[in-house]
Amino acid sequence: MIRTSLMQVTDTWPMGADTLGVNFRPSRSNRETMRGPLLGQAPRGEAPLRRATPFLAAMLAGFAAVHLQVQESRSASFLMAIVLGVLLVASIPLVSWEKLPSMATTLPPLLLVGIVGFLRETSTDTEALTPLILLPVLWLALYDSRLGVALGISAVALALFVPFIATANTSVVPGERQSALMWLLVAAFTGFAANGLVRDLRERANAFEKTSRLDALTGLQNRRALDTQLPLETKRAAALDYPLCIAMLDLDHFKLFNDHFGHQAGDRLLEEVAERWNVCLRSHDTLVRYGGEEFCAILPNVTLDGAVRVAERILEAMPDGQTVSIGVVQLAPAETADVALARADTALYEAKCQGRNRVAALPTPDVAAPAWTLKLRASARAPEAA
Ligand code: GH3
Ligand code: MG
Ligand code: MG
Repeated sequence: MIRTSLMQVTDTWPMGADTLGVNFRPSRSNRETMRGPLLGQAPRGEAPLRRATPFLAAMLAGFAAVHLQVQESRSASFLMAIVLGVLLVASIPLVSWEKLPSMATTLPPLLLVGIVGFLRETSTDTEALTPLILLPVLWLALYDSRLGVALGISAVALALFVPFIATANTSVVPGERQSALMWLLVAAFTGFAANGLVRDLRERANAFEKTSRLDALTGLQNRRALDTQLPLETKRAAALDYPLCIAMLDLDHFKLFNDHFGHQAGDRLLEEVAERWNVCLRSHDTLVRYGGEEFCAILPNVTLDGAVRVAERILEAMPDGQTVSIGVVQLAPAETADVALARADTALYEAKCQGRNRVAALPTPDVAAPAWTLKLRASARAPEAA
């Protein structure tokens, strides 16, 4: 019954174009597939050298500023501060911060605030060193949370004001307290303002990244999402040793439908079938709009037979009078996502050639065919397909 000739049914569309889900909105199941990977949470995943740059700059500037001003009596502790700073800076690119708790990433800048504060105290020219205290704060603002920035500002306050308390007003140069207060305000303003700006930009980038992976019409994930998700799924299937199937779906004679009922009705049909197909899939299957009237379903943890049954359910779930052709393959051992997708495309072509409105499954080869073989096959049959 499913294999009714399309040419006849499109000419006598039984429900009329208006019945094709006029008020359709992406369903919950469709919307669930809208999830896309977010941008990495800073500072995790940031290039270590980029993270270390402010520290390197701070330390180099610090060495240059105090190079000739070390007093004899203070040289030992001064040297210790430098060694500690150098070790700290050197450790930043080497430590794998991703494996540590996120708070650990806040420690280096806080320590650097302390070191700069210490260097400031052991130097005769404190004013020259004070601005260096801003660099770790800026680093925290760029890569850490608001709490991290607050901790940084607190460290700055300590580094700037503890010396006044410790010396009990005896050797404070006039105006130094005002200067420390000014630097504290500058650090607080710069830190919180930059942090707010960066968080805002990051949120916008995440939202943009998410929408760029979605198909605006159906709410399904789009080909861009598939390009990143399918290789991940194939790797996961290989690592966890479960079967993975791919189905390519293409509406039959959709051009005729458009010509007959108009482009808008065609759009509604696309929405409608996406909705219906999603109902046929399990929650961990992924339906993607591959482009135009072509879709792709990723079916993890199901054998080829199981995937064919899912595809047949999809065939049955079509709106009256419209049909779809489906090509199904199971990922072969050591097969890449690209090659499996190309095989699924070949299977779809077989389904079309056999008369449409059907499922065609390719047997799973023992060894994955090289991608170029499939490309040759595809280009050899291209004129026939047109
Ligand atoms: P076949 O059975 O061989 O797949 O034939 P077909 O007519 O479905 O395939 P063909 O590639 O000839 O035409 C696809 C049509 O899909 C042509 C194009 O206008 C239409 N199409 C692609 N994207 C959209 C879309 O977003 N909305 C609508 N309404 N039509 C679309
Ligand atoms: Mg088609
Ligand atoms: Mg097509």
